[in-house]
Amino acid sequence: MAIATINPATGETIKTFEPLSDGEITAKLDLAQQAFEKYRKTSFTERSLWLQQAAIILEQEKADFGKLMTLEMGKPLKAAIAEVEKCAFVCRYYAENAPGFMADVPVKTDASHSFIRYQPLGIILAVMPWNFPFWQVFRFAAPALMAGNVGLLKHASNVPQCALAIADILHRAGFPTGAFQTLLIGAAKVADLMADDRVKAATLTGSEPAGASLAAACGKQIKKTVLELGGSDPFIVLESADLEAAVTTAVTARMLNSGQSCIAAKRFIVAEAVADKFEKLLLEKFQALKVGDPMLPDTDLGPLATVDILEDLDKQVKTAVKSGGKVLIGGNPIPDSPGNFYPPTIIIDIPVDTAIAQEEFFGPVALLFRVPDLDAAIKLANDSPFGLGASAWTNNQQESDRLIQEIEAGAVFINSMVKSDPRLPFGGIKRSGYGRELSIQGIHEFVNIKTVWVK
Ligand code: NAP
Repeated sequence: MAIATINPATGETIKTFEPLSDGEITAKLDLAQQAFEKYRKTSFTERSLWLQQAAIILEQEKADFGKLMTLEMGKPLKAAIAEVEKCAFVCRYYAENAPGFMADVPVKTDASHSFIRYQPLGIILAVMPWNFPFWQVFRFAAPALMAGNVGLLKHASNVPQCALAIADILHRAGFPTGAFQTLLIGAAKVADLMADDRVKAATLTGSEPAGASLAAACGKQIKKTVLELGGSDPFIVLESADLEAAVTTAVTARMLNSGQSCIAAKRFIVAEAVADKFEKLLLEKFQALKVGDPMLPDTDLGPLATVDILEDLDKQVKTAVKSGGKVLIGGNPIPDSPGNFYPPTIIIDIPVDTAIAQEEFFGPVALLFRVPDLDAAIKLANDSPFGLGASAWTNNQQESDRLIQEIEAGAVFINSMVKSDPRLPFGGIKRSGYGRELSIQGIHEFVNIKTVWVK
């Protein structure tokens, strides 16, 4: 895939970039290693100040960064600006809390003095996707930098200007040269990078094949990985739920980022007793969504980020229909548009035992399933190769307790949509990946957890 900014709303190529040569990659690695030797000795106070300054820059220039995201990957501008604000939040969160998360932890043993010390590892590679081009990077960079690691970013090839802007923000905020660098490279270069002794670990957010490929390359080198991969999150609505609130949230949870979110609600699993009403309300709300120019303030749904995503989604919908699904609304790309526009779509009656029911639909397509009761809802929710998040709607305490206990996912949200929050760990199980980002767990993924025992 060429490294380029292509406006998904118009199909126009705005700017292309030459990938770094092997020599340039080596020079950046050398710089990162030199930076680490000094950076690891900086104080938490210094790192906190730089990260707080990054938060200020993000807030002051959020309109420009928002426009850049919208230009490169098509999310509605208001969502892009909100994403920049969330990046400022994660910077402040780690600036304030990382010193505590990284402090020595005394442990009582038969030693006269024993404790746990957290120390940085060195250069960490982040392979990131285009769907939240700022957020995904800042949720890695803020804890990694606070821990004393240095970062290399290999961003998705369709968001090169976002990638460059992020490195620039951190540099302007005061982080030393080389502490965080963007590498404009294709995916084929990643395995070579991981073979370099100086790169200690990697994190990848993206698709299953990309995650498997990076994990294999790191496995060969005995290097740690954190993988945040796909999801087909269930959104369960039971009879006792507040149906109006559930439907309103269902629309947001499915359509966030024009449907291109790993934690978007993708499978709506609704109790038969309320299914007719839920379906009718969902249809009405999907009909009311405004699809169009993502730069306009009243647009709900922008284009999909690339032509490939549009074509893949279209194929999936056609397969779902061949497998027995019925389209209630949408179901075909918007014709005669130069951009990658796909309309809000609802598919009902997909047989649960078909292969397509197991796939992740990465776009504005809701799959609606009916179930007789709670047991069937939990069984269907868990009948997925993925296990990222789950949202469940009920006003019955016993049902809520069972959902929390029995749903196979990295997160369960009751009467709310799944969302990431710096204060809570984020990550999946099963084919959604492993490891955690955010919170105290996130900062401890890329550190040496050193045991110290003094007689
Ligand atoms: P993708 O193709 O896997 O791309 C993600 C990143 O991986 C890009 O930087 C890409 O580079 C790189 N990459 C691709 N193949 C690679 C390989 N073999 N080795 C190393 N790097 C490789 O993902 P996508 O389709 O753009 O993103 C959508 C997927 O990401 C969905 O499945 C979504 O659910 C998942 N996602 C997960 C989370 C989460 O937190 N769990 C968050 C967001 C998205 P190039 O662009 O150069 O190919």
